[in-house]
Amino acid sequence: MIGYELTEDQAMYQKTARDFARDVIRPAAAHHDETGEYPWEILQKSWDLGLMNTMIPEDAGGLGLGCLDACIIAEETAWGCSGIGTAIEANGLAQAPLIMFGTPEQKKKFLTPMTEELQMAAYCVTEPTAGSDVQGVKTSAVKKGDVYVLNGQKMWITNASKATWYFVLAYTDKDKGYKGLTGFIVPADTPGITVGRKEQNMGQRASDTRGVTFENVEVPAANVLGGAEGTGWFQAMGAFDKSRPFVASASVGVARAAYEHAKAYSLERTTFGKPIAHHQAVSFMLADMAMNIQAGRHLVRESAWRHDAGLKNTKEAAFAKAFAADMCNKVCTDAVQVFGGYGYSKEYPVEKLYRDSKIFQIYEGTSQIQRMIISREILKEG
Ligand SMILES: Cc1cc2nc3c(=O)[nH]c(=O)nc-3n(C[C@H](O)[C@H](O)[C@H](O)COP(=O)(O)OP(=O)(O)OC[C@H]3O[C@@H](n4cnc5c(N)ncnc54)[C@H](O)[C@@H]3O)c2cc1C
Repeated sequence: MIGYELTEDQAMYQKTARDFARDVIRPAAAHHDETGEYPWEILQKSWDLGLMNTMIPEDAGGLGLGCLDACIIAEETAWGCSGIGTAIEANGLAQAPLIMFGTPEQKKKFLTPMTEELQMAAYCVTEPTAGSDVQGVKTSAVKKGDVYVLNGQKMWITNASKATWYFVLAYTDKDKGYKGLTGFIVPADTPGITVGRKEQNMGQRASDTRGVTFENVEVPAANVLGGAEGTGWFQAMGAFDKSRPFVASASVGVARAAYEHAKAYSLERTTFGKPIAHHQAVSFMLADMAMNIQAGRHLVRESAWRHDAGLKNTKEAAFAKAFAADMCNKVCTDAVQVFGGYGYSKEYPVEKLYRDSKIFQIYEGTSQIQRMIISREILKEG
């Protein structure tokens, strides 16, 4: 049986997140966009309401919500401001390898404190010379007694300067190719870690993006994620099956915001004696927006539902991520078009959404990489 209704709990999460996005996030969005100031106060309120870290399992003290629940919340948060939403969701990405592959002790040590107070975490995989080509990373980890010594440089790390710990991917044995990659949980205050300057990004400017350098950083062997060397590739990539649905859902939220602004404006603005919404060229743009937002939401929910059901969702998560990111970019472009000259002005809301939308086609695997994943998966199906 296929059901499209939210459960009572999901409807409650949606309402809580929707009210919070409308009353707290959206009023602060322009300020954080303009200043790039990290939204600590909003994150604290979000944490207080239980809208952050929702997937931390119950046995580690968390709510143990599913991926679909997280998607429902992410759509609302991003509708309010996707820069602030990304700061929140980056915790979800960093936690995903730990939730999926961590030992019970590691979950207790690093996830439980996040349920006791507001803490941020970061996923450190990308490097200056390796983004899409993850196996091209150069960070190394050499075992010396009871510790691993990490050296390398990570780039474009969300929450880098705010994180309490990092998930770090490094080679423990370069000769073994991707089977020589190992995942580590590294406390951010470990000596030898240097965090770079905040990147001045085009959009989602509330989010904190920086480089992180590791210079002879000693990490206890107990912090090898899952306890086994050589499993880092599967951990880093497996995490995307959990995180891509909620990143895609954030794209849906931004697209929804742009569509709502465009629709309202099209009913107010008149040209040639009638509201522009009654010119077919404009109303068809709105129709396409509404249709594609709904299609994106369905792909998001199916991919998340599969993950929660314990079914493989790599292909569906890539469907959702690629479609929703491309859709969000098109919807935001068209929303600027509906606003005409006013759409190009910072004084109107769609200009920010247009800038914010672009990153969805880049982080967590570009739109091209999603298509590589989809083609690999469908060709495997025979
Ligand atoms: C704001 C922001 C936040 C980020 N947050 C994080 C984070 O928290 N943690 C983290 O680890 N990383 C993060 N990233 C990094 C992000 O995931 C990478 O930027 C992304 O994966 C692309 O890698 P790249 O920038 O090296 O581009 P490249 O890999 O150099 O790609 C350049 C272009 O070539 C295309 N391309 C590359 N290879 C192929 C191919 N085989 N076939 C077809 N096209 C191809 C790409 O699609 C892209 O269009 C973030 C990036 C940004 C900008």
